[in-house]
Amino acid sequence: MLPETLGGLAAAAGLLGLCVGSFLNVVIHRLPKMMEQEWQAQCAELRGETASAAPEPLSLVKPRSRCPACWHPISALENIPLISYLFILKGKCSGCGNPISPRYPIIEAATALLSAYAAWHFGPTLQTVGALLLLWALIALSAIDFDTQLLPDSITLPLLWLGLVFNLWGIYADLPTAVIGAMAGYLALWSVFWLFKLATGKEGMGYGDFKLLAALGAWLGWQMLPAIILLSSVVGTLVGISLIVVARHGKNIPIPFGPYLAAAGIIALFWGNAITQAYLGSIG
Ligand SMILES: [Zn+2]
Repeated sequence: MLPETLGGLAAAAGLLGLCVGSFLNVVIHRLPKMMEQEWQAQCAELRGETASAAPEPLSLVKPRSRCPACWHPISALENIPLISYLFILKGKCSGCGNPISPRYPIIEAATALLSAYAAWHFGPTLQTVGALLLLWALIALSAIDFDTQLLPDSITLPLLWLGLVFNLWGIYADLPTAVIGAMAGYLALWSVFWLFKLATGKEGMGYGDFKLLAALGAWLGWQMLPAIILLSSVVGTLVGISLIVVARHGKNIPIPFGPYLAAAGIIALFWGNAITQAYLGSIG
């Protein structure tokens, strides 16, 4: 394929990623709140209370986005990914002047860059389509886990099934490899969880982590699991230790594992085969 065509494809994927990144910000911000509303409604129902009607149930499309500080509704002009933050708002709310978290443009830029790279890496194939969906889900999961220590089932479980669907046609791995990957991914962390709990009496990670690794196994096949676990543990341990040492992060404050799993999954998606081959080559 001509480099110019591939470059055009990557640019288009980057633009698409910019818009999707803007939507991911909404998902990251609202999905945990929506889950909480749902739990409270269920608890109220169990206590036999008539559900005290929430003023307006939150959803991903309603109500319109507002400034969390002054409730100023965000206009269409203020909602252009990246551009609005950098050039129109200059990092501040136009209503109250409070700074807007740089997290929003960072998520948008990261989504755009990873999407463009996926199109460049995989070219005009179904692999690009799947890679974009996987990347977007992993970005949302990482940020939600970082904020709330939760990996919502409403993302991890469909992600697992979607990986198996793509691999019906062997897009990333053949189907048996993918099914074994899903099972082994779940079981691997489930065993670590119980060993850790029996040894220390503490819970080192959550069930969401098992489901996320199961999903990565379903997408990439079981052969990628050792590399994913190794990469995420090494990075997680290094970041965890430096947080405890540098930021005096309390040893008992949980550090989410999901972002490390997601990052390792992204590395395995792009370079997993190269890494496994290099590894297998090195042991003979
Ligand atoms: Zn404001």
